[in-house]
Amino acid sequence: MSTLEDYQALLGKARSALPETLASGERWTLPPADIIKEGRFTILRNFREMVNAVRREDQHLSKYLLQQLGTAGQMDGDRLIFTGRVTENQIGSRLDDYVATYVRCSECGSPDTKLQRQDRVLMLQCEACGAHQPVKARKGQRRAEAGAQVREGGVLEVTIASVGPRGEGQVEMEGYTVIVPKTPEGTTLRVRITRLQGKLAFAEPVEDA
Ligand SMILES: [Zn+2]
Repeated sequence: MSTLEDYQALLGKARSALPETLASGERWTLPPADIIKEGRFTILRNFREMVNAVRREDQHLSKYLLQQLGTAGQMDGDRLIFTGRVTENQIGSRLDDYVATYVRCSECGSPDTKLQRQDRVLMLQCEACGAHQPVKARKGQRRAEAGAQVREGGVLEVTIASVGPRGEGQVEMEGYTVIVPKTPEGTTLRVRITRLQGKLAFAEPVEDA
C-alpha cells in the first residue's frame, strides 16, 4: 500500500469485484423502495438492500432518512421501521437526495465513491474519475444541523395567524411563511414541512401517532 502502483492495483481489484450495475455510472439506480404499512408504522422492507446498493453505513442512511422525514423509527434486522405514515414518494425522494448528496460523483455520475472525513470536512472520493470534493449538504439538511425547525422534513407545532385567498393557513416562522392548506385562523396543529421554496415553507398536517 506504500506505492502508487500498489494503490492502483488494489483499486483495480476492488472495481473488478463490483457488480456490473454499480460500475456502470449514470445508468445505476437504487432498487425501488419496498414499503408496507403495519398499523401506525411504515416499514421499508428492503432497507438492507438499499444500504448494500449505496455501500454506506446503515446508521448513516437510517439517521438521514429519519431526520429528513421528521419521524421517529429504528432499524429492525434488514428493515427500517418508521413511526407514523410515510408515503412511498416521500421515502423515494429522500433516497434520491441521499444518493445525490452522499453517493453519486457530481463530476462523472458514478456511484463508485467513498466518504472520507478530512480536517472535519466530509469529502466524496470518486474511485471512477478520481474527483475529490466536499459533500454539499442540501439546504434542508444544513438547516437541520443548525437546529432549525423550518426545514424539509421538519415537524413542528404551529398556530395559524392568518388565512390566504384559498383558505390556506399561514404563520411566520424563522423568516419563512409556513403554509398549511385549508386551515382556519387560530388553529394549533402539528405539521410537517414538505418543501421550501424561496421564503415559503409548504407544510401538511401530521396525524398524531
Ligand atoms: Zn467521478
